[in-house]
Amino acid sequence: MSLTVIGSLAFDSIETPFDKRDEAFGGSATFFAAAAARFGEVGMVGVVGTDMPDQNLADLRDLGIDCQGIEVAEGKTFRWGGRYEADWNTRTTLFTELNTFEHFDPKVPAGYQDSPFVFLANAAPAIQMKALEQFKSPRLVVADTMNLWIDIARDDLVGLLKKIDGLVLNDEEARMLSGENHLLTAARKVLDMGPSFVVLKKGEHGAFLIGKDVHFSLPAYPVEKVVDPTGAGDSFAGGFMGYLASVANFQPHTLRRAMVYGTVTASFCVQGFTIEPLVANDRAAIESRYNEMISFITL
Ligand code: AMP
Repeated sequence: MSLTVIGSLAFDSIETPFDKRDEAFGGSATFFAAAAARFGEVGMVGVVGTDMPDQNLADLRDLGIDCQGIEVAEGKTFRWGGRYEADWNTRTTLFTELNTFEHFDPKVPAGYQDSPFVFLANAAPAIQMKALEQFKSPRLVVADTMNLWIDIARDDLVGLLKKIDGLVLNDEEARMLSGENHLLTAARKVLDMGPSFVVLKKGEHGAFLIGKDVHFSLPAYPVEKVVDPTGAGDSFAGGFMGYLASVANFQPHTLRRAMVYGTVTASFCVQGFTIEPLVANDRAAIESRYNEMISFITL
């Protein structure tokens, strides 16, 4: 398996200024894998409860995702609720019900353990670490996190940062993790904590990559009608890692291209609920938006 993701599969209840969806299929690993699948093979490690309809997993398989690392445990699937304000950048978590995800003991299938590219999607840092320890010698490990874990599992997260190559996080999380208000200073402080690069996501303001040999800033793709931003960060990461895994390198110029693929993939995600827009848009649609994006940023 060239790329493996560990993270949540969920039912999301979403309120936007214009619409509402209850129990939509989501989760950090779900959005990531649906996005990354457009670039090549991806294996998922996660847990669902017995309440997860078979059809949802069948939809993932139809995208070409390998689901043998998804465990079905007795109990309920992870649930998350969020509300967006009219500016789309302000999100309030309404509830988090960990359910079967709380005591999830990730088991990386033997066929995934030699994955060169590993993404630790949003999950408790202790779970991310347990999964990471099962890989033989990954070439590139990138992780995501969120304010909840920075708040309640900071020591575990600080330990994990020493073991990974890249971290993707949003501006609020970077400030919270580093204790610095200025974003560049915050990113540098996070680099000092271990990873060799950081991708800072700034919602509709785009994303910023900072590392030892690379600095790159990109605006978001201008989407005319945002429907639901849930999963934008995960699908950004899916496009980013999916592209890197497909070309099997992470040189500075490749990381820049991966930023564009991440940006474009996330722009599809926000145009609908759940993974629907990622299912509806194939690699050709991604390439066409990639070229458009390049023309936007070239002199
Ligand atoms: P994003 O919009 O990219 O930040 O990711 C949203 C997804 O993250 C939703 O589908 C949620 O189910 C999932 N999620 C929210 N909170 C958590 C959490 N604490 N751990 C794992 N996944 C989460």
